[in-house]
Parts: sequence; structure tokens; C-alpha cells
Amino acid sequence: MRKTKIIVTIGPSTDSPEVIDQLVESGMDCARLNFSHGTFESHAKIIKSVREASQKHNRPVAVLQDLGGIKMRLGTIQGQVQLNHGDKVSVIPGDVSDDPMVIPFPQPEILKNLTKDNLIYISDGTICLEILSNDNGVVNCRVRNGGMISSYKGLNLPGAKIDLPVLTEADKEAIKFGVEQGVDWVAVSFVRSLEDVRYARAYMDEVGSNAPMMAKLERSEAVENVSEILSEVDGVMVARGDLGVEIDMVDVPVIQKNIVASAKQAAKVSVIATQMLRSMVVSPTPTRAEVSDISNAVLDGCDAILLSDETAVGQFPVEALTVAARTILKAEEIYPYYQDLSEDNRTQAIASGAAQLVRSLGAKPVVVTNSGASAREVSRFRPDSEIAVLTHDKEILNRLAILWGCTAIGVVPVERDSSKLVGGIVETLINSGTIKDQDLITIVYGLMTGITGTTNAIQVLDMKEYLSN
Ligand code: PGA
Ligand code: MN
Repeated sequence: MRKTKIIVTIGPSTDSPEVIDQLVESGMDCARLNFSHGTFESHAKIIKSVREASQKHNRPVAVLQDLGGIKMRLGTIQGQVQLNHGDKVSVIPGDVSDDPMVIPFPQPEILKNLTKDNLIYISDGTICLEILSNDNGVVNCRVRNGGMISSYKGLNLPGAKIDLPVLTEADKEAIKFGVEQGVDWVAVSFVRSLEDVRYARAYMDEVGSNAPMMAKLERSEAVENVSEILSEVDGVMVARGDLGVEIDMVDVPVIQKNIVASAKQAAKVSVIATQMLRSMVVSPTPTRAEVSDISNAVLDGCDAILLSDETAVGQFPVEALTVAARTILKAEEIYPYYQDLSEDNRTQAIASGAAQLVRSLGAKPVVVTNSGASAREVSRFRPDSEIAVLTHDKEILNRLAILWGCTAIGVVPVERDSSKLVGGIVETLINSGTIKDQDLITIVYGLMTGITGTTNAIQVLDMKEYLSN
């Protein structure tokens, strides 16, 4: 079984029920819906197709709602404009421009603060403008690196202070829509600080979203504040697209390794994103470097990799998923299983003990989890065996699909009598075909069932003995 999970961005190339069905069948663990694009109606259709395909193939699949956030974009320009090295252009406050050398940008308060020390990047950092002067928000520039621009292209201002709340009004509406739709994860873009994630969590709580939150790390401040951010979120994404513009891209691979290690230490999910199979947007086979990137992300220890343009707008989305899955399986042949990580609480110590028992006895790991937290604790030790996860709440089953090595099996009722609880666990595992009557299993559970953070038991069961008793 493949243990590192695959998140697939759904877009025009993949949003039909037929292709979604194929993706689920080919191993998609999570569908990412990019709320920078599409309408609530189009997202609802995709969610419906994912749920149907997941039912049909009997595979839990998570739906990740990725909020657009404070991504800065150009206004509307006429067609495509070629900017050449040395051209003088101005960036002005406004929504529209007809003059090719005048670039409209709809957020005047941000333009006002720019100085000659800032650089303006457009289109994923491919175009770079030097600032010559700032005339009260009309910013006069010279093109350093040229290229083609068109309406709504993304804009980055590395180092500039962006004084905006982390959730836009559109994000807030999207979160409410996500509650109605029962999305499994919410990703918050352009997180900078602990305050940002607290603000987002507070809003989600206010509107009744108990979905786990993933912070997208794509600003330099987020990298500086990563340990604080990790303490408050359920997962992080190394969003290499924007991050590689906001900071020097040569720093990104090292930061990726550090973030993945910190996330694992904190028992939080980590996702590596962007350009993983970029060439497959137009080519049926990836480059050697791309395959190598996926393999290395797996060996860094992330929970999941994320496919973006290659599945959203590419010509070979199913091929991209398939080659990603094959690459992961190959990398996992040399994976450093049973990792030695420090433990500083009871659940971690129990999870570590369970992982050791799994290794010494060749037992299968089973976890009963309330919120998913104890599943993350067992997963953290990266055992060389599929982790069967049971919950008390059906609602959280799909959320587990992006956790490394975890397979959501089903629901067991809350039960304070340990022999009855274990009876229910065994029954669910046998009925689902997860275990057979000869297996040895190691179960991690809590007897204060229904309360998060009260995992207090490990039990080793030889099914032969148990069933004959
Ligand atoms: P995006 O985020 O695709 O929403 O921009 C990912 C990234 O920046 O890498
Ligand atoms: Mn981004």
C-alpha cells in the first residue's frame, strides 16, 4: 500500500464526473478545490462527483477547500501585453487600463507604501519591475525581466508589508459555503503569523466549521513563524509557487525539509505543493527532475504531495496522478520507517510504544481516534504497515485520507467498557475485510471515549486467541 498521499487539484481538465471517477480509481486521496477560480455552483458539482466516486470505489477521499486569500492580482488589461527589458511602465490604482504601458492594480493602499527598495513581480515571479518613483500611489517602473502579461495575473511584493486580514470577504463567504458542503479540510492562503491562523480559526468556529485547517506557507513571515503556526493548525502546505517568489527560490528546498521535519515533530500534516509535474501540462511524460522532486518529497517525509496545474489545466491529468503514485511507491521501498522522534506527552508515548510493538511483533496497527489527532500521532512514527483508523464520528472519516499511511475503515460506537469497545473494533475490522482471523493487531484507543486527548491504552490482540475465547 502507498503511504504518502496524493492531493489532486481539480480544474477544467478534471471537473467532469467521468474524470473524477477515474482519478478516484487511480489513487487520488484528496481533491483540492481552488477557490481562486470557479463558482460555488461549480464547486458543489465537483464535491458531489467526488463523494459519488468515493462511495462507488469504497475509498475515502478528502475534499480540501483552498481559499483564495490575499493573493494580489492585476486588474483588467486589453488582451496580452508584451513587456520588454528596459520598458517604462506605471502601475496605477484602478481596475482597468487601455494603455499597454499602464498596468492597473485594484488595491491603492498597497501601492502607496511601495518604495524604490521594493520589486514588483508578476506571473509567478517571471516578470520583474524595478521601482523608479512612487507618485502618491502611481508607481513608475522599469522592466527588469520582461514577458507577456494579461488580466488578473498574480502579483508578488516580497518584503512589502501587507496590512490586510488573512481572510478576505470572499474567503468568509467560501468558508460558510464549505460548512454547508461538509468540506473535510480548509486551506488558508498567505498566512503570516500565529494571529492569522487564530483569526481564521475563530471565524471558522463562529460560522460552525470544525474542519481541520491547513496553513499555506507562502510568505517569508510564515517561514519565520512556522513553529508558532504549527502549534495552532492541523497541517501546513509548503506552497512553493508563491514562496519561491517571496523568498529566494534556492532557499525553498532546504525550507521544505525543515518544515516537514517540524510538522512531523508536532504531529501535524505536511503537504508539498506546486510544479511537481509541471511539464505534464503539455507532455504525457514528466522530466527526470520532476520525478526526482516527488521522490525526494516522499523521502523528506511529507504526508502528501499536491498536483496543481498538471491536473487542473493539463492535457494528461490521469497520467500525472499515475506517475506520481508509481514514483511514491518506488521511493517508499527505501523509506526510513519507524522513525525515532521525541515524545513529550502521553499520546505520543503510547503511539511510540504501539509503533515498536508493530515492528517487533509484525502486528497491524489500529487506532481509534476522536478528532484524528491520535491517528496523526501513530502516523508520525511512520510504521511500515498500513494504519487502520476507526472513529466515533462518521463526519471525520474522509479527513483522514491525507494522513500518511492511514486508511479510514469505519465507525465504532462510543463505549466505556473496554471489552465491549474492543469487541466493536474487532467486528468492524473483520466486517470491512481489514483483518483476518489469523492476524495480530495492536490497537491504540482511549477509554474516556469521545474526549480528544485521552488516549490511554495499547492492546495487542492475537485474533486466533481472541476469537476462540
Ligand atoms: P496557489 O498556492 O496554487 O493557490 O497559488 C500554491 C503555491 O503558491 O505554491
Ligand atoms: Mn500560492
